[in-house]
Amino acid sequence: MAASGGNGESTTKPKVYSTPINFCPSCGGQVSKQVPEGEVEERAVCTQCHKVHYVNPKMVVGCVASYDNKVLLCKRAIKPSLGLWTLPAGFMELGESAAEGAARETQEEALTIVHIVAPYAHLDIPLIGQSYIIFRGELEKADFKPGPESLDVRLFALDEIPWDLLAFTSVTVVLKKYIEDIERGAFGVHHGVIEKKPGSSPSDPDGYVLRDHMVVPGPR
Ligand SMILES: [Zn+2]
Repeated sequence: MAASGGNGESTTKPKVYSTPINFCPSCGGQVSKQVPEGEVEERAVCTQCHKVHYVNPKMVVGCVASYDNKVLLCKRAIKPSLGLWTLPAGFMELGESAAEGAARETQEEALTIVHIVAPYAHLDIPLIGQSYIIFRGELEKADFKPGPESLDVRLFALDEIPWDLLAFTSVTVVLKKYIEDIERGAFGVHHGVIEKKPGSSPSDPDGYVLRDHMVVPGPR
């Protein structure tokens, strides 16, 4: 495991944006913020049934689906980042594996079949409580069209990526690493932490810093 870009220092825990729980999902009672006995963090605790409701990061799964040295991008038909281009990706569902989820999202957003071939990137975004697992995949054929969540679906050559029109910083980070790997002649497996700059939009191409980047470089 080689590391680059990380400074190894712990950073101040950022303020995390999450939807507050106001009412108990179990009994409908009022919820208050308390530190449960034996814990450190404030949690949503029901004042009626005393159940503790934990809020944890969500897993987003997706892939870089390639065909003929091009990559598949989907133009979003939904908010956020409506009208901007993304890799096929979405929240992992209960009962599926991350790779299955990545293939499912590709099927839903681009109505096409992708064969997942390798893990590619694991990216955490602590500020918004999301963790991305991105795979490399190969399209079975260049036969795709927009699903309900997409306005358009296209294969982009790597020198035609619409950098100013990408939907999310995670997409920017993955595609940059992908192109670097193509240029050095080997695909790595990457990990990193995306620190969003406070107040930046999800699609701001400069609205982030990638820290603690680690890579298993892969064979040359
Ligand atoms: Zn309750």
